Amino acid sequence: QRRNALGRDLADPLTMERLARQMEEAARTHWRAAPLIDGVETSGDAVPVTSPADRRQAVGDVVWATEGQVAEAASVAERAFKAWDGRPVAARAACLERMADLMERHMPELMGLCVREAGKTLPDSVAEVREAVDFCRYYAMRALADFGQGESLHGPTGESNRLSLHGRGVFACISPWNFPLAIFCGQVAAALAAGNCVVAKPAEQTPLIAARAVHLFHEAGMPAGVLQLLPGDGSIGAALVRDDRIGGVAFTGSLETAQAIHRALAARAGPIIPLIAETGGINAMIADSTALPEQLVVDVMASAFRSAGQRCSALRVLYLQEELAPRFLDMLSGAMEELVVGDPARLCTDVGPVIDEQARDDLLGYIDRQRQAGRPVLGEGRLGEATEHGLFIPPVAFGISGIEEVEREIFGPVLHVARYRARDLDAVIEAINASGYGLTLGIHTRIDSVAESIASRVRVGNCYVNRNQVGAVVGVQPFGGEGLSGTGPKAGGPRYLHRFATERVVTINT
Ligand code: GLU
Repeated sequence: QRRNALGRDLADPLTMERLARQMEEAARTHWRAAPLIDGVETSGDAVPVTSPADRRQAVGDVVWATEGQVAEAASVAERAFKAWDGRPVAARAACLERMADLMERHMPELMGLCVREAGKTLPDSVAEVREAVDFCRYYAMRALADFGQGESLHGPTGESNRLSLHGRGVFACISPWNFPLAIFCGQVAAALAAGNCVVAKPAEQTPLIAARAVHLFHEAGMPAGVLQLLPGDGSIGAALVRDDRIGGVAFTGSLETAQAIHRALAARAGPIIPLIAETGGINAMIADSTALPEQLVVDVMASAFRSAGQRCSALRVLYLQEELAPRFLDMLSGAMEELVVGDPARLCTDVGPVIDEQARDDLLGYIDRQRQAGRPVLGEGRLGEATEHGLFIPPVAFGISGIEEVEREIFGPVLHVARYRARDLDAVIEAINASGYGLTLGIHTRIDSVAESIASRVRVGNCYVNRNQVGAVVGVQPFGGEGLSGTGPKAGGPRYLHRFATERVVTINT
C-alpha cells in the first residue's frame, strides 16, 4: 500500500519548538547556488539572494549560468544518457527513494529555505517538502510498474510481442518559483525515473533551494553527468530549448513562456520534441444557494489567499447564487479582516509575501485600476507588523459581473466575486469555458445532481466539490489542466512518466 509523506504536526508545541530550533540553525548556513555540470560547480561572481519577506535578509548567493554553459551541460547530459537509461529501472527507482528519505531527513533546512527564499508560510513549507518527497516516491513506484519488463501483448500464435518504455535522451526541466522544491523535484524525478538525463533551469527567484535539491539528488546516488543545474533567467531557458541535444522539455510557468517554448521547439530542425507544459488558470468556483456558508467561507479563503494566491490552482472568480450572497459576503469580509499578513516564519501568519518587486508592482497596479474603475471592494485584509521591508500585498476581494471581466490570470491574493441567478447557471458555465483556461473548478452545493451536472460541463483538469480547490495530493489528485492551462499529462498521476519516454515494440516470430 502506497503512503504519502507524513510531514510535521505544527500544532504540537514540542514539534514546533524543535523545528524552529533546527530551522534557525539552518538559517545560519550561507546557501550557495552555482552552475553544476558533470558534478563540478562553477566559481564566478556571486550575487546575493535576499528574502521577499525582508529584503535586508540575505539567504545566500548565486552564480548565474552563462549561455556558453548551456551547450556544455547539454552535451555532458547527452554523454551520460546511454548508461543511465541502460541501468535497471530498480536502480533508478532506488536513487529516487533515497532522495525522498534524504529530503525527509533534511526537512527543517528545506522548510527554512522555502520560508526564507520563497516567502512560504510554515504550513506551506511543510506541504512543499511533503509533495517533493511524494513525487520522488510516486515516480519511483510508477517507473518500477511500467519501465521494468515491459508488457507482453497477445497476437497470432507463434509470435511474442513486448511493449517497453525507454528514456528519450536529455530533458530540459524549467520550473517555477511558487513550488521551488516540489515542482522542481517533480519534473526532475519524473525525467530521471523514465531514464532521461536532465539539465534543470529553476526559476531565477529561487535558485538556492533548487541547488540544495540537486546536491541531495547526487548524494542519493544520481551519477554526476545525469543531472546538471543551470541557475539563470529566461535567456538560459531559451538557449536550452534551442539546443539540439535537448530531446524533451518539462515546463511549469506562464502561458506566454509555454507558447514561446512551443514555438522555439517547432522552429528547430530535426525530430519533433515533446513539451509537457503546465501553465495557469482563471479558476472559478460556483456556490449555489444550498451551500453551507460556514464551510464555503473557509474553502474560499484557503483557495484564494493561501500561498498569497500564488498557486496556479488558486480561486480567482467566485460565482455566488444571489440568495446566498448577503450572508456569505458578510462572513467573507469578516474573515478577510482577520487574515494575518506578514512574516512567513511565524506560525500565526496566513499570508506571506509575494515573490518579487515586479509581482508586487503588477498586483498593486491591478488593484489600483480596479478601485479607480469603481469596482466595489467586498473584503480587505490589513498589513501586519514589520512588513515594510518585504513584498506584502493585503488581500482584496472585488465585485464583478462575470469572469469575462478578468482579462488574465492575476497571480496574487486578489479575489473576484460575481453573483448569478439560478436560471443563468448555463451562461455561467459557458463563460467559464469561454475563458479558454481549464485548470481547477470549485463547486459548493448540497444537491448531488447539480454538482455532477456542473462537473460534467466545465472543461477543467481538477474539479473539487464542497472543499477548497488547492493542494492536489500526489497519487491522489493528479494535477494539471487543459486548453490554455497545459498539455497534460497530469503531474503526480499514473501516466505522467509516459510523456517522458519513448515506446518500443519487439515482435519475435518464435
Ligand atoms: N499543485 C498545486 C495545487 O494543487 C498547484 C501547482 C502550481 O501552482 O503550479 O495547488
